Amino acid sequence: MSLKPIKIGVIGVGHLGKHHVKHYSRIPSVKLVGLYDLDFKRSSLVAKKYRTTAYKNLKKLIDDVDALSVVTPTSNHFEVAKLCIESKKHVFIEKPITADLKQADFLLKLGRKNSVIIQVGHIERLNPSLIALDEYDVNPEFLEIQRLAPYTSRGSDVPVVLDKMIHDIDILLSIAKSDVESLEATGLSIITNSLDIAQARIKFKNGTVASLMSSRIAQHDVRKIKLFQKNLYSTIDLLNGSTEIYKVERNKRHRSDILHSADFERNGEKCFITYMKPELKKYDALELELKNFSNSIIGREKPIVDGKSGRDALSVALKIQKIIKKDFP
Ligand code: NAD
Repeated sequence: MSLKPIKIGVIGVGHLGKHHVKHYSRIPSVKLVGLYDLDFKRSSLVAKKYRTTAYKNLKKLIDDVDALSVVTPTSNHFEVAKLCIESKKHVFIEKPITADLKQADFLLKLGRKNSVIIQVGHIERLNPSLIALDEYDVNPEFLEIQRLAPYTSRGSDVPVVLDKMIHDIDILLSIAKSDVESLEATGLSIITNSLDIAQARIKFKNGTVASLMSSRIAQHDVRKIKLFQKNLYSTIDLLNGSTEIYKVERNKRHRSDILHSADFERNGEKCFITYMKPELKKYDALELELKNFSNSIIGREKPIVDGKSGRDALSVALKIQKIIKKDFP
């Protein structure tokens, strides 16, 4: 017996929202009911392209669907998502979940009360170069994470920690799987009136340490992670899609993914350093994320990044911002 398609709407169809629309229009189990944007001219153009309806009334769109993507600027995620959840509709909220923790906690509580799914768009968690690590025994003791981007006004309604660094905070929390023990941070406002660059050092209770650097005033985009642990070093390029792993092993193995192997002696024992560059899966991460949302609504899957994960990443991001503000009032 085939299930009825899930009726979905998109709120906010700017730079990212129109990609939500594109993907929903192609997912077989979804019926894209319509869009809403404060800029009606914009939503009309997008609706025409994807053969759907541009709504003039947000409440009417919410009434007509089972679930919505909230792709408005971060500063109004709360008010928009609250309207949807109050009407008992599932929501996919783009990252960060909200601009402050009280708002995130309010939405999570309301979501539980109204039995709706809240999913958060931390898309990097689905990046194939990160997923490739699942095949290796990775439990890093130290990580260095860098995210640089040229300046655009989009996203500058919030500090760089909430706009950029929060992606890496979410990745880090999913890898470290431990509570934060201590935080140090520094940052500067350079172009905007809020933070444009930030650097943080996070120590977790299980001993993992990470150094994060984010900037939105760089010449080129860079999104890189270096992971270190006893007998393993990995470098990941999230932007260009590559994962490289160097591993020390006692026995020379002949796995098909080993590209190079060099031997050395440690404590009188022969060891091998193997170099691996796994072939990455090819898929569109946003499409996968939105399919995960629709499958979660019908109970086939669980959200890869649920509301609680979005809230936890926000909590660490806000602590980093608070420390920086102390230094730079
Ligand atoms: P954008 O400025 O290009 O688009 C925002 C759209 O929302 C505009 O069309 C605007 O008219 C509309 N809008 C504003 N307030 C609204 C309201 N109250 N109701 C309805 N429409 C409203 O912004 P963007 O770059 O598309 O970013 C949107 C969100 O997506 C932000 O939260 C941002 O952090 C997030 N984002 C996530 C990623 C990612 O990698 N996951 C990448 C880019 C942006």
